[in-house]
Amino acid sequence: MAAKSQIVTGDYADEYIRFLQLQLGGDRNFCYICGDVKSGMAAVVDPGFRAGWLSAAAAERGLKISCILITHGHSDHVAQAGRLADITGAPVYAGERERVPGSLVLTDGQRLNLGTRPITAFHTPGHSPGHLCYLFENRLMTGDLLFCGKVGGTGPGFPGSAEEEEWASLKRIASLPEETLVYPGHDYYGGDGRMPHSTIGCEKRNNPFLLCGSFEAFTHLKQNWDSYKREHGIR
Ligand SMILES: [Zn+2]
Repeated sequence: MAAKSQIVTGDYADEYIRFLQLQLGGDRNFCYICGDVKSGMAAVVDPGFRAGWLSAAAAERGLKISCILITHGHSDHVAQAGRLADITGAPVYAGERERVPGSLVLTDGQRLNLGTRPITAFHTPGHSPGHLCYLFENRLMTGDLLFCGKVGGTGPGFPGSAEEEEWASLKRIASLPEETLVYPGHDYYGGDGRMPHSTIGCEKRNNPFLLCGSFEAFTHLKQNWDSYKREHGIR
C-alpha cells in the first residue's frame, strides 16, 4: 500500500478509542473510522470511494464495522456506502430528507452505541436539509456544515439548502465546549499549510463565517466570499 501515508491523514489511539481520518478519493473528501477498543465495534462516517480498502483498514486495527453513518446524501459522501454495507453487513444511517438508498433514518439527538460508547447524531440542516453531524467522545464530524476556516455551500447549486438553517446549525454547534475537536467532510483549508482538523474554539476565533455577528452579516459574507478570499489570500 504505497499510498497509505497519504490516505491516512490522522490515526489516534488510546486505551479506549481508535479514531482514523482518511482520504479515499472525491474532492479531498474525508472519511472517518470511530472505534471502541474494548468491544472492537466501529462506525464509519461518510465512506469514500474505496470500500474494500476501508474495511481492510478497520480489520487491520482489530475493528469490525458495525454501522455506516452518512452526514448527507451528496454523492461524494455516500459513493460506496452500499458497497461497504454489502461487504460488512452493517446498516447505513442517514438523516431524514436525504436520499441515501437503503438507509435507516437517524433523528436529532439519537445515539448509537459502539460497545458502551455512544456516537450521537445532531440534525444540522443548511447545506442540505437532513444533514447530520456526529459526536464521538470529544470529536465532532461536521460533514459539509463546517470546514476549517470555511462553511458548506448553499444556494441554487445545492438543492434543498437554506442559508438561514445553516446559520442556526452553526450557532448550535458553536455552543459545544471550545475544546471539541472539529473533523470536517473535506480538506478545504485555504490558508498556509495543512489543517485537516480544528476545534470549536479555534473556529469561533478564526472562521470568518463564525465571526459574523448576525445572519445579515453571514449572508453578506457568503455573497461576497470570492472577493473576501482574494483580499485575505485564502485559496
Ligand atoms: Zn455536500
